Amino acid sequence: MKFNKTLDDLKNNLKQLPGVGDKTAQRYALHLLTQSKERSLQFSDVIREAVEIHTYCARCNLLSDSDPCAICLDESRDESLICVVENSYDVYLVENTGEYKGRYFVLGHLLSPIDGIGIEEINLSHLLEVANNGLVKEIILAVNPSTEGETTMSLIAGELASTDIIVTRLSTGLPFGANIEYSSQLTLSNAIRRRYTI
Ligand code: ZN
Repeated sequence: MKFNKTLDDLKNNLKQLPGVGDKTAQRYALHLLTQSKERSLQFSDVIREAVEIHTYCARCNLLSDSDPCAICLDESRDESLICVVENSYDVYLVENTGEYKGRYFVLGHLLSPIDGIGIEEINLSHLLEVANNGLVKEIILAVNPSTEGETTMSLIAGELASTDIIVTRLSTGLPFGANIEYSSQLTLSNAIRRRYTI
């Protein structure tokens, strides 16, 4: 079936979502236009509101509906610990383990010079600034143990080598190349608990 332009635009936008292929995008687009208008418009309002309200926390770089984010504002959290993750979603994964009560720093990317992702893109200077605030005693590198993850961890550990800050990484519960997104809550929980010094 040939879609009209509006329907085609809708389909193509849905196709940009992770895990959505051509056929699924087509189904979603038709669903949005065949269910009640009110429902679909409400859905679009929810998207607009979420997009408009969300920003990045200036302190930890977490995608949040406030700046500073709720975690940075929470005074009961341990300021001596910073858990470094690749993206905001990883923060929720670590939070869901219930194992960690420190603060976070979201890199935004992992180092990958071949893709043009260097120290600027991973917010290294901001991380070093936060790490050297005099309160931080340990930096936990909770990034995926992929090639990019390993390169990123070496760089950060190297930058902090001359300080008194202990740099740790997650235990080997996570195999090389594994994504923390796909590890079970228990595995991640154990990996945090059994972290070791680099
Ligand atoms: Zn924050």
